[in-house]
Amino acid sequence: MNTLKRIDPRRPFTITADGLRRITLGMMASAGEMDFTAQGSASSHRNEAKPRRTNTAPQRTLLVAAHADRGALDDHARQTLAAAALIADASTEVVLLVFGAFTGDVAALGADKLIELPAFDRRRFAPVEELNALAACVAAYAPIHVFLPDNATGDGDLGRRYAATANASVATHVVEIDAAHVASYIRANTAFASRSLPDVVLLAANAVDPKLPFVGAGERVTWHIDEARATSNGSVRDLGVEEIDAAQLALEEADFIVSAGNGVSDVPAFERLAATLGAAIGASRVAVDDGRFTRDKQIGATGKTVEASVYIAFGISGAVQHLQGIKDCRHVIAVNLDASAPIAARANLTLIADAQETIAALNEAAAAARSARGTGAALLGSATLAEGALV
Ligand SMILES: Cc1cc2nc3c(=O)[nH]c(=O)nc-3n(C[C@H](O)[C@H](O)[C@H](O)COP(=O)(O)OP(=O)(O)OC[C@H]3O[C@@H](n4cnc5c(N)ncnc54)[C@H](O)[C@@H]3O)c2cc1C
Repeated sequence: MNTLKRIDPRRPFTITADGLRRITLGMMASAGEMDFTAQGSASSHRNEAKPRRTNTAPQRTLLVAAHADRGALDDHARQTLAAAALIADASTEVVLLVFGAFTGDVAALGADKLIELPAFDRRRFAPVEELNALAACVAAYAPIHVFLPDNATGDGDLGRRYAATANASVATHVVEIDAAHVASYIRANTAFASRSLPDVVLLAANAVDPKLPFVGAGERVTWHIDEARATSNGSVRDLGVEEIDAAQLALEEADFIVSAGNGVSDVPAFERLAATLGAAIGASRVAVDDGRFTRDKQIGATGKTVEASVYIAFGISGAVQHLQGIKDCRHVIAVNLDASAPIAARANLTLIADAQETIAALNEAAAAARSARGTGAALLGSATLAEGALV
């Protein structure tokens, strides 16, 4: 187990007049207190007391199903849950079925009930069991509509399988939705089709704003899947997850990216750090134009758009064209000598430090952690070394 102290990116912060995030060392953030998906001051991120959506006894159910990733729902899943909560009337409850462990604040996301199936981890490929679990949940709650995010990471496939198996009506790639209708682009986006709400709604990303003016009841339901229904018929075999070199990963698919800008001069040390951390490599246009990185590494308006959970920008100023490429990243960490660089206003955490020194120190700390553990794996826990430089 990793015993190294790690920087908690959710620690409380205030925004200075320069737009910098100033972390208060020693203070711990409470659950749900921070939201790093949007810009603004710390106070604007706090959950103000919101009213309950409804206190009426439920007579109908809307079911939302989605996979969790490391205990949380991604933006697309939260949007899908929000769609159901916004459509639900006072006598309709919103039940959330989560495949995988979920530790988030389910009421804040708009759900009235949560059914968590921790056994269905994202790393496990179990389409038949998941289909059976979803069918069992539908049988138990008899929802009037089932909502899933239309993604390529499991939910879209599950929704289609369920609709086909249950002979249910379905709308895919839904980009417009209200209580009366859904609409999608069809025929290679040359036409727009609309219909009444089908049994299964597969919602496209960014169709709905997940910020809700209310909260759900947030009740956790203990629910055991009927083993007989949830087991696979053997038609699908899980061959496990194959680890690949992060450098081979398309940047658009990478969950962890270290990126170099004009402030990175020691490229071999930077590449070593990326390999140690298992991160994909990105670069700013200036670093690419200089020949330090190949064009396919460029991130930004005229490069790639990335959606990593963690994006570490070494020596990148954060020009608007670069920021365009990282707008969907979850946690941005900047290492820059200049506290007023625009990247600091976008970053969730800014280290005012020299890129080469930080990279060298991280490489050293990773090597020390590796030899202390006697393993080949190095971990980001070494980031504590930079705590003294936190702003
Ligand atoms: C039409 C158009 C399209 C563009 N498309 C893109 C694009 O897709 N992607 C993109 O990235 N850019 C793009 N650009 C360029 C963009 O405007 C910026 O010029 C570029 O992003 C700057 O790269 P940089 O931040 O690495 O370099 P600089 O602007 O030179 O900034 C370097 C940063 O590193 C810091 N620094 C310097 N030394 C150190 C050190 N030792 N340690 C730590 N920090 C240090 C500096 O304080 C500075 O903030 C585009 C521009 C145009 C006009």
